[in-house]
Amino acid sequence: MDYLEGLNPQQRAAVLQTKGPVMIIAGAGSGKTRVITYRVAHLIRSGVDAFNILILTFTNKAAREMRERITKVVGDEAKNLWMGTFHSVFAKLLRVEADKLGYPNNFTIYDTDDSKSVIRAILKEMNLDDKLYNANFVYNRISSAKNNLISWQEYQQNEQIQADDFSTGRGQMGKIYETYAQRCYRAGAMDFDDLLFKTNELLKNHAEVLYKYQNKFKYLMVDEYQDTNFSQYLIVKRLAAINENICVVGDDAQSIYAFRGANIQNILNFEKDYPDLKVFKLEQNYRSTQNIVKVANSIIANNKEQLKKNVFSENETGDKIKVMRAFSDNEEGKMVAEGILQDRTTKGMKWNDFAILYRTNAQSRSMEEALRKLNIPYKIYGGLSFYQRKEIKDLIAYFRLTFNPADEEALKRVINYPKRGIGDTTIDKIILSADQHGVTTWDVVTNPSKYLDGRSATSVGTFGTMIQSFQVIAKNLPAYDAAMHIAQHSGLLKDLYEDKSVEGLNRYENIQELLNGIKEFSEREDIEEKGLDVFMQDVALLTNDDNDKNPNAETVSLMTIHASKGLEFKQVNVVGLEENLFPSQMSLNSRTDLEEERRLFYVAVTRAESKLTISYATSRFKFGTLISCEPSRFLDEIDPQYLELDFTARPAASANPFFNDERTAWTRNTNSGTKGPDSFSKPKPASQPVKTTSILAKAHVPSANFAPSDTSKLQTGMEVEHERFGYGKVINLEGSAPDIKATIFFKEIGQKQLLLKFAKLRIV
Ligand code: ATP
Ligand code: MG
Repeated sequence: MDYLEGLNPQQRAAVLQTKGPVMIIAGAGSGKTRVITYRVAHLIRSGVDAFNILILTFTNKAAREMRERITKVVGDEAKNLWMGTFHSVFAKLLRVEADKLGYPNNFTIYDTDDSKSVIRAILKEMNLDDKLYNANFVYNRISSAKNNLISWQEYQQNEQIQADDFSTGRGQMGKIYETYAQRCYRAGAMDFDDLLFKTNELLKNHAEVLYKYQNKFKYLMVDEYQDTNFSQYLIVKRLAAINENICVVGDDAQSIYAFRGANIQNILNFEKDYPDLKVFKLEQNYRSTQNIVKVANSIIANNKEQLKKNVFSENETGDKIKVMRAFSDNEEGKMVAEGILQDRTTKGMKWNDFAILYRTNAQSRSMEEALRKLNIPYKIYGGLSFYQRKEIKDLIAYFRLTFNPADEEALKRVINYPKRGIGDTTIDKIILSADQHGVTTWDVVTNPSKYLDGRSATSVGTFGTMIQSFQVIAKNLPAYDAAMHIAQHSGLLKDLYEDKSVEGLNRYENIQELLNGIKEFSEREDIEEKGLDVFMQDVALLTNDDNDKNPNAETVSLMTIHASKGLEFKQVNVVGLEENLFPSQMSLNSRTDLEEERRLFYVAVTRAESKLTISYATSRFKFGTLISCEPSRFLDEIDPQYLELDFTARPAASANPFFNDERTAWTRNTNSGTKGPDSFSKPKPASQPVKTTSILAKAHVPSANFAPSDTSKLQTGMEVEHERFGYGKVINLEGSAPDIKATIFFKEIGQKQLLLKFAKLRIV
């Protein structure tokens, strides 16, 4: 049992408790995910068949990492585990069972764009005001209904829901939901929420299917349980009903998806559902320094709604948490990037030891710019997926149509791309005919003379014949050859090839990359079924992280805090700690929403292992205008004894003069020493306006008389003062005396290279 040695007594007890319901609700970094990993390894070592174990993780990446670790203990047997996100696991299950629900087994998965496109078409047909019935709003409302397992029929019959819709003037919502559901069904398509909704329907209405999977999944484990929604909760409950070997782990303090229907109630329900539940407590944090853990505790203590937990760390005390103030978002980026560069050089770290976390995707821009300027390699996680690029979606739409010709969104996308003279009117007519005659759009496309008139019928017919020929090809050729054939004969490859613009070239290369990906797939040895249809199955569920060719590449990681859940990095920068940004403007209306933002902050700070830096800007471009920002209330909530303030930044010369004035800078009243509402307050205007020069080195008032000094003792890592550039740290020395060049990182102006024999420098 050597593999159990890496666990403390509580963790080990949780791992060894393999029978019956188990719940671990514990703080960040206390080893919850580790317990799941070891538990699975232990089950397999104890003779449980890996085929009988189901593990639900929050991301596919988490599942992959877990599988790698388990493989180390149990070897290839780990391949047989069912492991992944709720969406990917139940999509896989539905591929086998969809026919029982009247869907084709090669159903399409509509991504969010597809869903919204269907909604927009419906709104247009129903002549509804697209401001009142904004597609995002409608999408979210339908999504929320599905995640609470409310069908369109129930939606229309529920008096409370109807009253809500009527009171906001959106009485047509029920009808839209109905049409949307029918459109998806007719197209043989499920949207993301359907993957869970339909799984529930399947397990509820088909006893034999339920029984089959209850017996298959004898052991169930769910990570990040606090972020499951009702639909997910019920799937797990149904599957676990016979054996009740269910283990959930989570942290209520990290529940950050309430806006997507995640429900803390699921934790409370769990206790009710399983009266003989065994609860394990994990209190020791192994991830972070003591200071980081204490700061995290002091943040979350401000939330009223939370389960009591005592999280401590026995790691080293660690540095204080640095709070940096910048005068603009660009300067914030610069400070963050310079800090990373400096730490990497002076502490000998790797780029992938660093992460920059932000509240909103838009904040990545200023970070990216600053990183690029310093040639720091970075990677953005959770951004636009490779599979969401237009040209990739176009080619995939051809594949989709080949395997599921009823797929209306795919049809709309490519029936006239590349151009075939089939106009929008014809496309509308195809859909209308399908509606009127109760057939699929594919029926219309393959019998054009029956449903459409003269000229358009011919070109639509030709398109239909082409797709039919693709179907034959896809059945008979290996995945790569079939994909290549379709790319060529659809005219898509030629169309992109002829576009010689930079973007056109880029698009062409992306298509090549997709084709290469399919080739790699068809050469894999670990899977048996390698047809193009198999490659296509989960494409809609892939994120750009899954497409990562080189997941261990040395890059700084950039991501939203939401995407950082469960991850850890040696050093973390949390940026944009400003009112109306973090906490976000939308969260300021209710305590519940504000508490969710605070939990998000808690998630952010608990990602850091050894060093945490928090920053804010006093001005920021938002929607094209420069606005002034106040520091976040969250900064005030941190016990100041753990903070170290870095307010060395000077207003940039190029910024709006208004913000260039010291009087408008928000500063922390460092003398107060106590927490209080005013401690990050606006200073009183000075009687004389303070004229500040830009970040100029001239601003430095030297502390001594400088002559070219004796710097023979100078070593990397030493702190120095320069007559004009101020204080800094030596990050590199090269060459030999008397021509030694020093690279010094100055606090005020960043990096400079100086020839020592001329530098007016002293060691401090
Ligand atoms: P989060 O709430 O952020 O998801 P978690 O509770 O899942 O955190 P893990 O990610 O499992 O925590 O563990 C945090 C870190 O501590 C990991 O690097 C893990 O390997 C390490 N760790 C956990 N338990 C131990 C232990 N008993 N001995 C040594 N390291 C441990
Ligand atoms: Mg975890």
